[in-house]
Amino acid sequence: MNQFYKNYVYGLFYASFDGTIYSFNRKEEWVKLVPSYIVFFEKYKRVLMNVTNYQLAVFLEKYNTRNAMEQILSKLEFVSARQSLNEFKQILLSHGHSVCFYCMKPLKQTHVDHFIPWSYMQNDVLWNFVLACPSCNTSKNNRMAKVDYLYALVERNEELRVAEQMGTYKETKLIYLYEYAVQNGFEANWAPRA
Ligand SMILES: [Zn+2]
Repeated sequence: MNQFYKNYVYGLFYASFDGTIYSFNRKEEWVKLVPSYIVFFEKYKRVLMNVTNYQLAVFLEKYNTRNAMEQILSKLEFVSARQSLNEFKQILLSHGHSVCFYCMKPLKQTHVDHFIPWSYMQNDVLWNFVLACPSCNTSKNNRMAKVDYLYALVERNEELRVAEQMGTYKETKLIYLYEYAVQNGFEANWAPRA
């Protein structure tokens, strides 16, 4: 835990919200969100992020030159760096995945698709990755696939459960995140062209 946060941030926020949002322990170095707030943050993630980024941009504008401020909003939107997806591709290939998750055609060129768009999750986890052909991957882009594909992914993840990279995966987590991403305005019902 970063010393600065430890000394100032956790206690201050905690007091401002009368301890209703999270609990924490400086000595043992943990912070625990109240479950209903996890739901709240996931449900309204996009709105909350947009408001925060807007205020941050207004703040940064005061202290930075025009050059440094160029495209500041797009810089703020993607704060976490994307990892290389090759590791995930290799794991899925090693589990025998050889057709496009969406159109089921055999893969000649293999793309790794974030089932729930990266711009919503901003977190690279195996259970959110599928192998796709370039055409499906490009056409799906930032959209949400039709619900049939959610069920297919739940099944796929059940088979993958043995992989250690599945981390703290839970079926319900995937289903909730799918719903929340749609509620956050990601275009829904994408399906590959027949
Ligand atoms: Zn495809």
